Amino acid sequence: MVASECAPVAKAGGLGDVVFGLSRELELRGHAVEIVLPKYAGMRHEDVYGLTIDYHDLWVPWHGTTVHCSVWFGYVHGRKCFFIEPHSGEGFFDRELLYGYPDDVDRFTFFSKAALEYLYKAGKRPDVIHCHDWQTGLVPVLLYEQYGHVMPEQRVCYTIHNFRHQGLTGPHVLWSTQLGRPDDFLDRDRLGDDQEFRAVNLMKGGVVYSNFTTTVSPNHAGEARFGDGGDGLGPTLGTHQVKFGGVLNGVDYDIWNPEIDPFLPARYSAEQLEGKYEAKRRLRERLWMRDTYSPIVAYVGRLDEQKGMHQVHHALFYALERGAQFVLLGDGLHQGINGHFRHLKHYLNDNPDCHLEIGYDEELAHLIYAGADMLVVPSMFEPCGLTPLIAMRYGTIPVVRAVGGMVDTVFDRDFSDRPHWQRNGYTFHQSDNTAIESALERAFGLWFDYPGEFRQLMHNAMRSDYSWARPGQDYVNIYDHIRHK
Ligand code: ADP
Repeated sequence: MVASECAPVAKAGGLGDVVFGLSRELELRGHAVEIVLPKYAGMRHEDVYGLTIDYHDLWVPWHGTTVHCSVWFGYVHGRKCFFIEPHSGEGFFDRELLYGYPDDVDRFTFFSKAALEYLYKAGKRPDVIHCHDWQTGLVPVLLYEQYGHVMPEQRVCYTIHNFRHQGLTGPHVLWSTQLGRPDDFLDRDRLGDDQEFRAVNLMKGGVVYSNFTTTVSPNHAGEARFGDGGDGLGPTLGTHQVKFGGVLNGVDYDIWNPEIDPFLPARYSAEQLEGKYEAKRRLRERLWMRDTYSPIVAYVGRLDEQKGMHQVHHALFYALERGAQFVLLGDGLHQGINGHFRHLKHYLNDNPDCHLEIGYDEELAHLIYAGADMLVVPSMFEPCGLTPLIAMRYGTIPVVRAVGGMVDTVFDRDFSDRPHWQRNGYTFHQSDNTAIESALERAFGLWFDYPGEFRQLMHNAMRSDYSWARPGQDYVNIYDHIRHK
């Protein structure tokens, strides 16, 4: 795996969960997996065991010169991880955050190049290199164009977790990576962006050059290929359709599992729900909310336009109006949206029925998934959507907009054509306030008036299987397919 994230050591969102969870599942199936990551200054060092320098002098070709790197090795909850640390003046990864810097494209272009140089020099020859998102879109390009003579057998699977960020940049990356030949690479059939003249699109490079491209749910694969979900990459996916498909992400039930979760005050299961009510009490206590007979609605996720923040805002006030409580945990890179929710937090500071926590807090996230009754996910688009899958495992009912992967995973209690026992949440379609209101209204109605039925819905949600078992097998099949081509 070559990736910019791996949970929990370096995680900004679902990508980190997937890199960790899929690697673990592949290992359980007997495959040897190693993960190559940048060595971020701000990574959670407490999640790495036995961090030592594994390779002292890696010299990575960059522009007309070479950059000295060290490669560190450590175990991240059992996974073998290699962290690349460049010693250059730019300090590419000597930063607190994973993303959000003006030179992000250069940082991850360098990382892609360094990862391949490391595999080459350290004599690592994996059957398959699995890389992820725009940050590592150049990996298959560089492998094929520059390392093909030393790694002719290696195949690349490329997974797109979010089409919104494609790594659009100028032709300078062709010079920094020493690919050169701008006229060749800027061709629309290669890395040339379809919309922007003479722009390099790193994600497009990943699609064109990889042996197989996936995105993180079958429904989103359709949206990307035929709708506007591909953010301009639809035609490229069409050209490469024989090597493109959707594989639903799994959830790592070793981490997200109320039966063993160390962050909860008590464990619980679908059969033994008492611990969930204990978690609800603890959540209220921790967030200074009053103990009252009402459902808790939660939002956990990035504060980003993608996530339908205007509907989250509305859900908060609607929940309060209907006598429910509301909890939000999120942070984001968008100043305006962050500011808006900070302002709301201030405004609602004395309200005992809600709490907004602006920041990233893994432990609190676990307690919220367990302690809440409902989770709202009104995303504008959502390639997979891990938060509703996690919520369901904790018996928290997802109330989601029917887009992307959530169409494959959340089935409306009242309107789905699935059998009753498979229905596990509430869905709505539009992105206006009335839409989320009507779905929440139905959820509140059931919670207040038919608690037995609500409990049945919780059982259905907890029994839905979104583990890595099936997607793990799907990826093994893809690897086998590309290995034998
Ligand atoms: P995305 O990948 O678009 O961010 P997903 O729903 O697929 O969205 O995955 C989000 C993951 O990040 C989940 O594991 C969620 O619990 C976690 N997460 C997001 N924001 C926070 C936060 N502020 N604190 C703790 N965990 C968070």
